Amino acid sequence: MQVIIAIVSIVFIFIFLAIEGLVNSRKPYACPNCGHIFIKKWYALMFKSSPPVKDGSGELRLKCPACKKVDFCVHTNYED
Ligand SMILES: [Zn+2]
Repeated sequence: MQVIIAIVSIVFIFIFLAIEGLVNSRKPYACPNCGHIFIKKWYALMFKSSPPVKDGSGELRLKCPACKKVDFCVHTNYED
């Protein structure tokens, strides 16, 4: 029984992280160094230790695909 509870807990944590990643991947991010705007896949964001970003605001520590610098990239309201 305890094994089942442990498995269910892990599944719930995984689902929560996946939803968090999906929410954070809906809007693109802007690099503060070169201004490049890029989109990260949900599975690349789901293990970032940040709460889901709401209303197009907030920032995450991400690697810019253009200049390869790791910095706090701002969530943008840019729609494609
Ligand atoms: Zn950049």
